[in-house]
Amino acid sequence: MHDVELAGKRVLLQVDYNVPLKKSGDRWIVADDTRIVASIPTIKKLVAQRCKIIILSKAGRPDGAVDDALRLDPQAKLLEKLLDMPVQKLDVAVGDEVQAAAQQLQPGAILMLENARFEPGETHNDARLAKYWASLADLIVNDAFSTSHRAHASVSGVAEYLPMVAGLQLQKEVEMLSKLVVEPKRPFVTIVGGAKISDKVEVIRNLSAVADVVLVGGGVANNFLKAEGIDVFHSYLEDQIVDERKKGHSFVAVADDLLEATKNEKMMLNGYIPLPRIIYPSDVVAGKSIERPGAPRVIDLTQGQAAVDAAMGGHDEYMYLDIGPHTQRLYRDIILEAGTVFWNGPMGVYEQSAFASGTRAVAEAMAASKAFTVVGGGDTIGAINAFNVSDQFDFVSTAGGASLEFLSGAQLPGITPMLVKT
Ligand code: ADP
Ligand code: MG
Repeated sequence: MHDVELAGKRVLLQVDYNVPLKKSGDRWIVADDTRIVASIPTIKKLVAQRCKIIILSKAGRPDGAVDDALRLDPQAKLLEKLLDMPVQKLDVAVGDEVQAAAQQLQPGAILMLENARFEPGETHNDARLAKYWASLADLIVNDAFSTSHRAHASVSGVAEYLPMVAGLQLQKEVEMLSKLVVEPKRPFVTIVGGAKISDKVEVIRNLSAVADVVLVGGGVANNFLKAEGIDVFHSYLEDQIVDERKKGHSFVAVADDLLEATKNEKMMLNGYIPLPRIIYPSDVVAGKSIERPGAPRVIDLTQGQAAVDAAMGGHDEYMYLDIGPHTQRLYRDIILEAGTVFWNGPMGVYEQSAFASGTRAVAEAMAASKAFTVVGGGDTIGAINAFNVSDQFDFVSTAGGASLEFLSGAQLPGITPMLVKT
């Protein structure tokens, strides 16, 4: 936005107003305004430049059909309040009404189109639809980093027909995430947890080449434990790769490959203890099931199978539901030595207090560390909010899948048009 002449231009503004709603009386209101608040500086700048602003957003997965529950009226109402100016919201995203409203739009005024995903051509990246939206404006301002990984008509399709520049929020997101992969302050520590390794494996792969150490926790860790021949009993384990092209491989085999490829130690803890590149838990907190965990048991995984069996007390129905106290201390020590820390995915089933301490330990260590700290992921953000430490991080990325794809090294279809055209 800084590099182009904005004054008086017709701007197609991409935002991501896919936000949680809640019922208030008989109408829906926005329950979490983070994403809408984040777009305000860009909109104010466009208003100040007397641009004619056409907001294009999407929400939910209506699959190309109108769904009244996914209309953008609650978002438009909140936007009016936050900006203290009128926002003309239409009930359609294409057609005569859009044409007329766009033509009559005054300098500095805001028009908001209906949910782009009501259009069947949106997710199929239909060229005619993209060309139509582009025809309404002179310039695209992309402030929707969180949907930039989608090759959809309103995201990358429109950029075939108009120049695209970065909005202020998107720019910040790209700058902050870039600090992780371009000359990060070292040691660079990455922490990956959560339930499903399929969501995280590309990030682990890419960041294990950039980071000095990758700390693994949550359900993801079970793949690494299994790869090392450690029994995980009834723990959550996503093993079979569903992707047809990779048939025959399992995520345990992928974890094994990653351990093999990175086994030469790099980071030195306390200046002298060499660490392997990928670290998995040396102890865990186990319970009988996620819903009815029973009394939690700490299991030391370093003393061999017989010791593990003994700690189980003859019960093999146990699941590993958190990283153990020894692992928590080690992860904390490593985080406190870091220059840069990126974290995505809880270390355990943090929703239950008996299995929250691993996640809390990581959150508090990052909060206490002097490192440049970035956190991402819906559940991870939920956890740091619950622990009241979210303001202790340098950057909280709300972009979910897009930030993971960015950090995995992928080219995002909504970002590349800006690289080519500036
Ligand atoms: P994020 O939303 O931050 O990306 P994920 O959605 O990947 O995080 O993972 C969060 C979920 O992972 C939580 O619901 C949590 O209960 C679950 N989880 C964490 N550790 C385990 C574990 N050891 N076994 C089963 N589920 C786990
Ligand atoms: Mg999640």
